[in-house]
Amino acid sequence: MEKRNKIYEGKGKILYETDSPDLIIQYFKDEATAFNAQKKGIIDQKGVMNNKISTRLFSFLSSQGIPTHFEERLNDREMLVKRVDIVPVEVIVRNVAAGSLCRNYGLPEGKRLPVSIFEFCYKNDDLGDPIINECHILALELATPEEIEIIRSYTFKVNDLLTEFFKALNIELVDFKLEFGRYKGQIILADEISPDTCRLWEIGTGRKLDKDLFREDLGNIEAAYQEVLNRVSI
Ligand code: UDP
Repeated sequence: MEKRNKIYEGKGKILYETDSPDLIIQYFKDEATAFNAQKKGIIDQKGVMNNKISTRLFSFLSSQGIPTHFEERLNDREMLVKRVDIVPVEVIVRNVAAGSLCRNYGLPEGKRLPVSIFEFCYKNDDLGDPIINECHILALELATPEEIEIIRSYTFKVNDLLTEFFKALNIELVDFKLEFGRYKGQIILADEISPDTCRLWEIGTGRKLDKDLFREDLGNIEAAYQEVLNRVSI
């Protein structure tokens, strides 16, 4: 697989064309951002760890019937993925209250939710990724009703699968964000799944193993990402 021109550079990843029109290379950086990039920093080796963690999680989800963009991990920082058109909607699932849910609705951090919350955000950094509902998605023509339904059903299945997957590793899946893309007329799971995009708490101790350590300057970030990598690699 030949690496060609850079297509796009985002906050955490760089995308490169390849000699195949259907495949691109996703390169994972160490740069970390939070609060819509108002806070910036470096987490040493984050790119390497997230590439490996994402590989493990996408492989697991594929094996359980979720279509994903993942093809193979190429090296420490690069993953070969299908070239998709990203649906400009971020999908968030919350099982336990944290982050913006606590800020916006006054819930205490750590409250287990009686039902999981499913949220859509408009993927638009200039607007600060505002929360939207299905009417906004249709009115802004971000996705069709059929696509929304498929995204919703995949997302619930991913929540069930990953909740059990992490529970077996003594980790609670507090919340997470997914992105989907269009590939040859189908909706498939894209982007990454890592401690940058999930909140992961150790069961029993409540130890945070995710990007909140960076957001809140709590320290030991590299060790926490490494801990997640070690556990998912078993
Ligand atoms: N999330 C993400 N990217 C975003 C926004 C959220 O990966 O642009 C993830 C975040 O890591 C967390 C979940 O989605 O696991 C819920 O995020 P929340 O809205 O609470 O984020 P906050 O506002 O606290 O950063």
